[in-house]
Amino acid sequence: VKWWDHVAPAPKDPIAGLTEAFLADTSPYKINLGVGAYRDDEGKPVVLQCVREANAKIAGCDFLETIPHAVSTKLVEESIKLVYGNDSDFVEETKVAGVQALSGTGACRLFAEFQKKFCPKSQIYFPDPTWSCHHKIWREAHIPQRTFRYYDLCSKGLNFTAMMDDIKNAPDGSFFLLHPCAHNPTGVDPTEEQWREISHLFKVKNHFPFFDMAYQGLASGDLDRDAQVIRKFVEDGHLVGCAQSFAKNMGLYGQRIGCLSVLCADAKQAAAIKSQMQQIAGAMYGSPPVLGPLLVSAILSDPDIKALWATEVKAMTERIRRMRINLRESLEKLDSPLNWEQITNQVGMFFFSGLTPDQVDCLRREFHIFMNPDGRISMAGVTTGNVNYLANALHEVTR
Ligand code: PLP
Repeated sequence: VKWWDHVAPAPKDPIAGLTEAFLADTSPYKINLGVGAYRDDEGKPVVLQCVREANAKIAGCDFLETIPHAVSTKLVEESIKLVYGNDSDFVEETKVAGVQALSGTGACRLFAEFQKKFCPKSQIYFPDPTWSCHHKIWREAHIPQRTFRYYDLCSKGLNFTAMMDDIKNAPDGSFFLLHPCAHNPTGVDPTEEQWREISHLFKVKNHFPFFDMAYQGLASGDLDRDAQVIRKFVEDGHLVGCAQSFAKNMGLYGQRIGCLSVLCADAKQAAAIKSQMQQIAGAMYGSPPVLGPLLVSAILSDPDIKALWATEVKAMTERIRRMRINLRESLEKLDSPLNWEQITNQVGMFFFSGLTPDQVDCLRREFHIFMNPDGRISMAGVTTGNVNYLANALHEVTR
């Protein structure tokens, strides 16, 4: 029997080969602007001090023998507080159904499976553009996708009017995926006033906001401020969902630590939803990992280590912000005829440069600078040492 003859290779991911190509490049000037993870001013990955302290704290504990349930419960409790606020009543009232997830991707996938199971006829609206994996995740969960207009190519900012029109024109009671801070890939977030209007319109339309928060703290430098949008929606009376990741803001990418939470009408509903989400997760991968979540719980439940984490998040954000200023100033010093102010207007890890695929190609061929074909520049890859070289290359390919 020929079991697998019909299996063709999956389409190549345009981003997948990027790191390999970067590693294979022998130029001393090469720069990797593709990675969506934090790098220090030397371009190196960072193990945060708070992680080192938490690691020392849990060293020797019997984690290999620990039943995942207890670790998971602690992680979920602490993660929920981080999103919804320490003193929110409904956390006390157990109105939030939360489960540990395999980082942000796993949290999104778990929600998509949950959505498919309990709202089988529903679809999901994504901002255009959005993180490319959103499309893959909801496609694998067999949920039809729509997009709503978000980014304006001309202004390199938000197309708020079009966004509101699309939200208005979507069928009542639709699922919407929103980036609460540091939108990937554009770096463009609505203002506080715009979020207020979006929340109001969601209320009128009875839409469900699902927040994918992969960069809490890395937009403003402040963990609470970056969660403000979600808290505002909750204050306005929305029931919300949230996918959380500790990959970026704790530098724990490889550990796959995240949380999926759904705010429910009451504790009974929350218990039901939690048990269903656990059942779906259990059938996909059994129980989740223990060591990474132990680390995160150790950070979040110790006020001193948590405060240290907050300062480190701020420092990461500040470094990226400084690089945005340096890059823009360098381009302006080169008398670039283009307007580069969006480098400093956009927030978070990325600058959505508007470079064409040809320009991206040219940067790679002639300057050994690697980035996603959509022109997204990971500002975390920019350092004091390479910012002028990058500015010069950007100037050369756009003049
Ligand atoms: N959501 C968004 C918008 C992202 O940009 C990312 C990572 O790039 C994720 C979710 C998930 O990341 P991870 O699964 O590594 O936590």
